[in-house]
Parts: sequence; structure tokens; C-alpha cells
Amino acid sequence: MKNINLSIIVPVFNEEENLNPLYNQLTEVLCRLKLNYEIIFVDDGSDDQGLSILKKIADKDKRIKIIQLKKNFGQTAAISAGIDYAQGEVIITIDADLENDPKDIPKLLSKLNEGFDIASGWRKNRWKDKPLTRRLTSQVANFLISKIVGLKLHDYGCTLKAYKKNVIKEVNLYGEMHRFIPALAFWQGAKIAEVEINYKPRKFGQSKYGIERVIKVLLDLVTLKFLSGYTTKPIHFFGKIGFISMFLGFLTFLWALYYKLTGKKDFIETPLPIAIVLFIVLGILLILIGLLAEIIIRIYNESQNKKIYLIRKKINFRNYEK
Ligand code: UDP
Ligand code: MG
Repeated sequence: MKNINLSIIVPVFNEEENLNPLYNQLTEVLCRLKLNYEIIFVDDGSDDQGLSILKKIADKDKRIKIIQLKKNFGQTAAISAGIDYAQGEVIITIDADLENDPKDIPKLLSKLNEGFDIASGWRKNRWKDKPLTRRLTSQVANFLISKIVGLKLHDYGCTLKAYKKNVIKEVNLYGEMHRFIPALAFWQGAKIAEVEINYKPRKFGQSKYGIERVIKVLLDLVTLKFLSGYTTKPIHFFGKIGFISMFLGFLTFLWALYYKLTGKKDFIETPLPIAIVLFIVLGILLILIGLLAEIIIRIYNESQNKKIYLIRKKINFRNYEK
């Protein structure tokens, strides 16, 4: 059997009307590319007719694979399952609702051929005819994420992205974190490009998310920042705040001492004693929390056999077993 060049991963949750058109559009584009490909539909616990539609497609076309999850685990879990079973050298994720256009796939692939590890879609025309508030929420979120991650992307939330296999297999996904794969990969040294793509609003079915997604995404971002064991030293973070707190405690102590020595006021009447104790105890606790976080991060990295380095390429190491 020939090696598979390209795996397309489609997370599917109640998208029955979209599946046949999506399959046809994908097949048309992929056949023209003359690649050996597979399309993995991950059924994320749908309760519509989607699965039987997919089974019919897979009966006719052996390049179509289906992973049926036991229940609705969420888009990130569905994508993660797809990644685990994908065999292609390149992996592309795409929404099932036809909001992403399969015709953009060649554009993403040519970015990877230029040497990038990830090509990330940017739905530039998405905000036409949408309320200004939605547009602003998205722009602020993408701006914040870009600042925190250190990688500027206009559209972290776009599912249509292409990844080289070795890059995406290195990352572990939790929560709603599929949108942060480029961030995780970037911290591991991946080169990332942004590609403008087409966006068509969905015609069938409805979006599976509401406005509460914004909060989830921001919380995921905080977690992510801490779990990036390659770059963060938690003790530096907590320790710094701890020292500032202890320093404030010391200043407050001097203030109280000043009252004591000059006799201007009885410092017991002021909140100063409480403030001194509060700042100093808080400082010590923060440093201890930093230490705990250091231990946890070590366990986290070691339990996954993570090295403290990642190699892009090895040359002339052919007979070296490792
Ligand atoms: N999806 C999924 N599991 C879920 C929610 C969504 O597999 O629990 C899939 C959904 O079928 C679609 C993609 O994820 O293919 C994006 O979902 P949606 O269109 O609802 O998100 P939006 O476009 O509104 O961001
Ligand atoms: Mg959608």
C-alpha cells in the first residue's frame, strides 16, 4: 500500500444536511491534487441521521474513514481522536458545516511546501453582515491571545488549518484547546503562516456554541500559559508576586515603626498590624505555591516522557537507534 500523503479530519456533531455536499466538495478538490488521501469523519455523539449517511459514503469510498465517539465529547476531543488515528504526512482539520471551503485546501498545502509547519486559515470576510459586537469580541479575543501567546494570528478560532504530522502529533489537547494548537506548536518551535480563506455562513443546522465560549476560551488560555512547560517557570511568576507582597509588608512595618518611634499615633489603632501580617504571609504562601507548581510541572512533563528539547531534523543518523 502506498503511504497516505494527506489526512482530512472533520469533527461532526449533528450535521446531517451538510455531510453529502461536504464529501462531494472535498472529493472534487482532493482528486485534482493527485495525492493519496483519507478523510476521517469523527462523529461526536450526533443524535441525527449523520452516522448512517457517513456509513453509506464509507461503503462506496474506502478513502473515507469514520470514528464514532461514544457520546458528545466536544469539538476538541473529536479533533484529537482524528489526529491520533490519522496516517497522513499532512493533516488538515475542517468544519463539517461548510463554513470552510474545501477549495482553499491547495492554498494551505502550498504554504506547507514553502517550509512552514502550520498554515492557519483566516476568515477575513467573516464579519460582513454581522453585528459589530460579534466582530469586536472576536478581534479583542484574538488580540489578547496573540499577545499572551506571542504569535500574531487574526483568527485563532478558524478550524481550517493544515499541519505537518510531526508537529501536530507532539501536542496534547484538553478543554476547548483545538484552537490553540498553533500556540502550543509555536512554543515548541514550529513555523506558522496565516492564509486568507473564504468563509460562507452555514446554511443547514445551527452553531453549537453560544457567547459563554468567550469565557471558556480565556480560561483555557490561562491554563495553557501555565502548562507550556518549555517556556514558563512558575516559581518566577508566583515568586515575583510573593516578593512584592513581602516588600509591601516590610514598608508597612516601617510605617508602623515610624508611628511607634515618633509617638504620633498608636499604630494598634490603625489597620497596619493586620496589613503587615497579611502581606508577609501572602508573600510566603505565594513562593510556596510557586514551588509546588514547579514540582507539578516536572511531574507533568516527565509523565509524558517529554524531553526538554525537540529536534527539527537529524542528518546522517541513519543507523542510530533511539
Ligand atoms: N462540533 C463537534 N462537537 C461539538 C460541537 C461542534 O464535533 O460538540 C463540530 C461541528 O459539527 C462543526 C465544528 O465542530 O463541524 C464547528 O462547530 P460550529 O459550526 O457549531 O462552531 P462555530 O462555527 O459556530 O464556531
Ligand atoms: Mg460553524
